[in-house]
Amino acid sequence: MTQSPAAPAIDAAVEAALAASSEERLGALMEFVRIPSISALPAHAGDVADAAEWIADRLRGLDATDVEVVKTALHPIVYGRIHEAPGAPTILVYCHYDVQPVDPLDLWETAPFEPFVRDGRIVGRGTADDKGQLVMHLAAIEALRAAGKVPAVNLTFVFEGEEEYGSESLYDWIDANPDKLRADAVVISDTGYFEGNLPAITVGLRGIMYAQIDVMMCQFDLHSGMYGGTVDNPAIALARIIAAIKGADGRVRIPGFYDDVRTLSEAERAAIAALPFDEEAFRASIDVPELHGEADWSVLERKGARPTFDVNGMWSGFQGDGAKTIIPAHAHAKVSCRLVADQDPEKVFAGLRDLVAGVAPSGVEVTTTYIHGGSPSLTPTDHPATRAAARAIEAVYGRGPVYIRDGGSIPVTSAFDRQLGLPVVLIGFAQPTCNAHAPNEWLLVDNFERGTRVIVRLWDELATLGD
Ligand SMILES: [Zn+2]
Repeated sequence: MTQSPAAPAIDAAVEAALAASSEERLGALMEFVRIPSISALPAHAGDVADAAEWIADRLRGLDATDVEVVKTALHPIVYGRIHEAPGAPTILVYCHYDVQPVDPLDLWETAPFEPFVRDGRIVGRGTADDKGQLVMHLAAIEALRAAGKVPAVNLTFVFEGEEEYGSESLYDWIDANPDKLRADAVVISDTGYFEGNLPAITVGLRGIMYAQIDVMMCQFDLHSGMYGGTVDNPAIALARIIAAIKGADGRVRIPGFYDDVRTLSEAERAAIAALPFDEEAFRASIDVPELHGEADWSVLERKGARPTFDVNGMWSGFQGDGAKTIIPAHAHAKVSCRLVADQDPEKVFAGLRDLVAGVAPSGVEVTTTYIHGGSPSLTPTDHPATRAAARAIEAVYGRGPVYIRDGGSIPVTSAFDRQLGLPVVLIGFAQPTCNAHAPNEWLLVDNFERGTRVIVRLWDELATLGD
């Protein structure tokens, strides 16, 4: 732990409590990571429920009130409150406890749900996204309790188990429970630092539109000698459809796709250009032959401020070893768009569906199905809540944050800002190269420690919100 010696970032008794509990806090994270709460796989539904109970137990142990594991159509939401600061602002704290699937398993150094620490990193599925950050929030309260303090703001916790699978249950629950969620601001910890471990506040997040394209021709695969030349081929039809959606120039051809994209001002482009970012190092870090995307936009702009279209998976016909002479009966693709303010996922889906219908050949039947969507969001850097978060970072790190636009999506951000009308502060503690959603996901122990201190300080800084 390196601390600025000039001014203590947090109360001395709280700091002492944190210093005394570092092993225990790390142990708690390890225990939590061992629960394989993969929301996308039905076989893990029980594990997701176990992870929810794990959190609820900890919240009760922290004397939170109204602790509830809310049943939904899919995975539970964990709710709890620590409202002990009469008259102070109320802050909604959001993290998610579900994780991404772990395949390809053979690329993991060890089993994904058997976390270990090496070279200052905690490795395991969910360490960075997002269990590590959730545990930091619990640990911040634990340290305050140990020091005999109460948080300077009223905290309402919402921990979700479906973030990696579309958040559908959460939207309905948010709509149905405005009273439980009454607050002055939302703090979401599911983002991270910038390049080189620079502390950051994320001001922009991309939204998402996820869909499936199914190309059907007949009941079963056909003999390519007996039928080749007489029927269409669903796999080729699908390839044509995909090629029509996005050009080699990186531009998406969905009608109206760019109409609602907020243009970057010159000042915004200059701020992005000023961020320390090495495109070649970025390329090398993922070991691709070259970077690719829309011309006239920098990599950082393409990653955070421009929308995309991608194929997430495609399958059709014979995929075993050797050869099988068939014409596939059908072909399928999972596709998605990352969206930026002010694009609307349903409008983008409608455009995609129309484009696909327009280019689908008549020898096959093509359907496009909406799987899930989430709106993009953008939060002003000069909002008092954003400024409070910047002060908390500065106190712990001895320098202010950079402001970034993240390429990822946390659809719930727009649910809080659009459904509840609350300002959202995205303050997170993972590094951009943490392998979230990939094998060997990791979190720096140092960020786990400092992040917890930033959270402790944040509650003090937010106490003046609205003054
Ligand atoms: Zn996440």
